[in-house]
Amino acid sequence: MAGTQSEAVRLAALQELRLLDTPSSESFDRITRMASQLFGLPSAAVSLTDRDRQWFKSRVGIDVTSMPREGAPCAEVTATRDVLVLSDIAQDPVYRDTPLAQSGARFYAGAPLLTHNGLAIGSLCIAGSEPRQFSTAEAAMLRDMAAMVMAQVELQHAYGRIDPLSGFPNRTQFVEDLNDLVLTEPMGSQRLVVFVDLASPEELSHAARVIGASFLDELVREASQILRSALGPARTAYMIGTSQIAFLARRDVAEDAYIGLVASMLGAIRSNASSRFVTTVAIGVVPFKLGQTDPGDVLRLAHCAAQDARLMDTKVSLYSPEQDALHRRRFDLLNGFGQALEEASQLSLVFQPRVALNTGLCLGAEALLRWTHPELGSVSPGEFIPLIERMSLAKPTTTWVLDTALTQLAAWLSHGMDLILSVNVSAGNLNEADLVDRIMGLLARHGIPPYRLELEVTESAVMEDAGHALEQLQRLSAAGIRLAIDDFGTGYSSLSYLQALPFDVVKIDRSFVAGCAEDARQRSLVATMITLSHDLGYRVVAEGIETQETADLILGMGCDESQGYFFGRPMKAEEFEFWYRSNSNQ
Ligand code: C2E
Ligand code: MG
Ligand code: MG
Repeated sequence: MAGTQSEAVRLAALQELRLLDTPSSESFDRITRMASQLFGLPSAAVSLTDRDRQWFKSRVGIDVTSMPREGAPCAEVTATRDVLVLSDIAQDPVYRDTPLAQSGARFYAGAPLLTHNGLAIGSLCIAGSEPRQFSTAEAAMLRDMAAMVMAQVELQHAYGRIDPLSGFPNRTQFVEDLNDLVLTEPMGSQRLVVFVDLASPEELSHAARVIGASFLDELVREASQILRSALGPARTAYMIGTSQIAFLARRDVAEDAYIGLVASMLGAIRSNASSRFVTTVAIGVVPFKLGQTDPGDVLRLAHCAAQDARLMDTKVSLYSPEQDALHRRRFDLLNGFGQALEEASQLSLVFQPRVALNTGLCLGAEALLRWTHPELGSVSPGEFIPLIERMSLAKPTTTWVLDTALTQLAAWLSHGMDLILSVNVSAGNLNEADLVDRIMGLLARHGIPPYRLELEVTESAVMEDAGHALEQLQRLSAAGIRLAIDDFGTGYSSLSYLQALPFDVVKIDRSFVAGCAEDARQRSLVATMITLSHDLGYRVVAEGIETQETADLILGMGCDESQGYFFGRPMKAEEFEFWYRSNSNQ
């Protein structure tokens, strides 16, 4: 049984070297030519012991490319891992009737081809048509030449697998080594992979702009030195990406204790690296079971865990299936949203009324995006909007929403409805150089006067890039479009700062409004927000009024308008039109 298993390991090692059935190569032919000349024999070969054949990677004076393993002296060399000499094959009890003897060979000598971990993959052999003696010195020489063959094999194997900067093997090697672990360790045993992400993509691109491309080289070089000394000579790390390094934790480590250890290693990288002021190192740790998780998946999960780690104080995160499900969902949503924008049948708008608090009459509506994913069903904008805002999808999304909303508004205006429509724009939209022209173009195309459109920008979006945002907002305002600060109170900006921006409306976030009825402090906070906003010349809208009680309270504070479930939920266009008829003077 042990024999079968070691044969399986041996065969796997041979396969992994990717030598079988490859074209001949000068680097091996040079050695076989030399062997043939040195020993004055017509034939020499690099002969690899496959499952049931001897396959010649290189051959001199031999016509065939392989011969059966059974009865081949090279197979015995592989099995015994020792030099074999047959001084006269015709006299040899084992080999005298084999194909080798029948081909006319009388002399054979072979030395084993041994990998660095002692597995025999074949033999370097020489043969001649006359019986011959082989001295110990000659045997030693043949052995040396077999070692030369193996040096060449391992050199070729390492080529393209070692990252030149860190000196670590690369991702391909990581995957192979992980696969090979099942050959030496029990299936299903648990191991941990540690994934070190040296910098976020933004940090890398920023540093490359300021310091230059050599920055990354230096970062990788320093981190690999620290890791190498932390892991010791017996273990290796792998260079997975341009700035990502992974390694396997020692067998049988306790997860929790190990996380602590990893955190202290992180501390070492952080405090020693010259790049410590411009990059943040994040570490993801992933437990996996040998033979049950695909190495590619292990890496993917580790990458996710490292990404999550970036958001944590400790910068170390242990992978969990819940997190993975979240990542998958985000990925599916992002992918799916791109498609939804192209097909558009999955997207629609609903409209939530804005009413005058004192009369209850409808003044306008906010257009809110709805998405029905073909498999996941309806997805809340609170979930998908932040995702698409991080990718490059904010521009096409806002364009779609604006176009659809203005088409609807044009229809309503032609039906004699008198309203202002609000559309949400993302922070990224304010960086689009053509934003104002695009919006003006759409308004013109739909024949809508600019004052009928209100754009809602969240407080934090304005703060993100205040300089650029200001210029865009001024142009929009100058064009006659109304501007509203959305979710007011959730950011950190002060009203006096916002006063420098050309806003017309402040929408107080519903988190403040909702608690008004119960909480006296909330109440005075909202009252102050309203008074201050009025002093600064804004119209004030309270978001999220759900009850009569809150409506009365907020009205008592002098608030102008409201938007909330109490007055009307977000509705489909036809429904809204119906609702409007009974909540306006018309
Ligand atoms: P928002 O702009 O502050 O929109 C108001 C949100 O509050 C809407 O949620 C609305 O349904 C909800 N709401 C209104 N009244 C009440 C109430 O009385 N009680 C409660 N519990 N909720 C109320 P929704 O439609 O889920 O949208 C969430 C957010 O997603 C929006 O907040 C907005 O920031 C974003 N969003 C929605 N549509 C778009 C869009 O077309 N473009 C962009 N960029 N963002 C959008
Ligand atoms: Mg809004
Ligand atoms: Mg809001």
